[in-house]
Amino acid sequence: MMQLFLPLNLLGFVYREMRGAMVNIERMFDLLDQRPAIMDKPMAKPLAVQAGTVEFRNVEFAYTAERSILQNISFTLQAGKKLAVVGSSGSGKSTLVRLLFRFYDVNAGAILIDGQDIREVTQHSLRGAIGIVPQDTVLFNASIKDNIRYGNTEASDAEIMEAVRLAHLQHFIQQLPLGLDTLVGERGLKLSGGEKQRIAIARAILKRPSILVFDEATSSLDSHSEQSIMQALREISVGITSLAIAHRLSTIADADLIVVMENGHLVEQGTHNELLSRKGRYAGLWQAQQENNRESAPQVETI
Ligand code: ATP
Repeated sequence: MMQLFLPLNLLGFVYREMRGAMVNIERMFDLLDQRPAIMDKPMAKPLAVQAGTVEFRNVEFAYTAERSILQNISFTLQAGKKLAVVGSSGSGKSTLVRLLFRFYDVNAGAILIDGQDIREVTQHSLRGAIGIVPQDTVLFNASIKDNIRYGNTEASDAEIMEAVRLAHLQHFIQQLPLGLDTLVGERGLKLSGGEKQRIAIARAILKRPSILVFDEATSSLDSHSEQSIMQALREISVGITSLAIAHRLSTIADADLIVVMENGHLVEQGTHNELLSRKGRYAGLWQAQQENNRESAPQVETI
């Protein structure tokens, strides 16, 4: 049944990819039924995720020969911990995530998951181990239930209900006359950005990934939506290695590790308190954002 929806959304995916947005990358190649330029090695083995430690080791990367994008990026995200990546627009945050999915190969250095170089494992197993909650979730012209089930087409109704609860969607769904059977998309209900992200969270819950990537929306959500999303993410990421691209520093103060990117360089890393006491780039951003909040301006992109 889900197969029916796929061709209808092909154009949407292509459009989004052209915009450079990273949308459900782990499924995109399947949907387009095309071989990515990146190939599995002939003897590639499935990724054996034990705890879910992610390491970027001296990573260098360029999309084109003319322009280097990432230079000498090294950090280790310990298993079960939360990493937040912050930095100005164009500093390379999304590129880090695209490399983690092995959308592209690094030019030098390596990315390792539990000590395994991701170039040595099958892409299928790699992408299967990582769940993503994108900024801009693609919804099909189908029921909310089918849209959620997309995270795992084998999921039972009971598992979907549990994902709905954990994603803080229950209240919203109860208000709909047809509940989970309500159609969304062009032919049905139009969902807000926050509701769509919670559907993506429910999908990610069904997928049960070892590593969760969250791309925080740049556009402001109302504070209730934002709190709901952050709470849902906190609950589902307990014990899961998680990586968030963050635009609002207020949402990541409790991260175990914050990585600050600037123009393709990792300029600072540490916890919120460590970075504040360093009085460097992060402290400056924090200060600027606090002032912005005080002036009660609408939420702005961090940097
Ligand atoms: P934002 O916060 O605006 O999403 P970002 O920090 O995530 O930005 P990236 O998307 O990682 O930044 O982009 C880093 C740099 O790489 C930018 O200068 C961007 O123009 C460039 N870039 C991104 N995608 C491509 C691509 N497919 N081909 C060439 N250059 C690209």
